[in-house]
Amino acid sequence: MTDKPIDPFRAFAGFRWDGVTLMPYKEEGAAPFKSVTRQVLFHDPDLKCELRYFEVAPGGHSTLERHEHVHGVMILRGAAEVLVGSEVRPVKAFDLVHIPPLTWHQFRTTGSEPMGFLCMVNAERDRPQLPNDADLAEMRAHPAVAAFLAT
Ligand code: MN
Repeated sequence: MTDKPIDPFRAFAGFRWDGVTLMPYKEEGAAPFKSVTRQVLFHDPDLKCELRYFEVAPGGHSTLERHEHVHGVMILRGAAEVLVGSEVRPVKAFDLVHIPPLTWHQFRTTGSEPMGFLCMVNAERDRPQLPNDADLAEMRAHPAVAAFLAT
């Protein structure tokens, strides 16, 4: 992110942090998503992981994807429905979500407030895979997943 030394203290206000740039979730057109921003809170060559904060506006969603790397997620604000593998669950602030390797996942904001979450991830990681038609058909075999994907 930056070659400048990291300030040991960076204050929080309004779901922004001092010195942290508000960025688009991904390159536009790289993968389907809607109304998501990204802030990288910790990115340090001496760490093997990164901590990011994502925010998904009402009606928005993250990319439906899978990859070898794992996510450790803590919801910080708002509410969402989350797909992990063949399970769909409602989540709220401070709930934890663990996303294992090569497991389809997606976050969809529910309600009228933005939904924000911390996501811990490997600093070095593989590129996300997107589902093909066969993958989608396999996912839709689970009624809860079919309902989730239809929203
Ligand atoms: Mn992911």
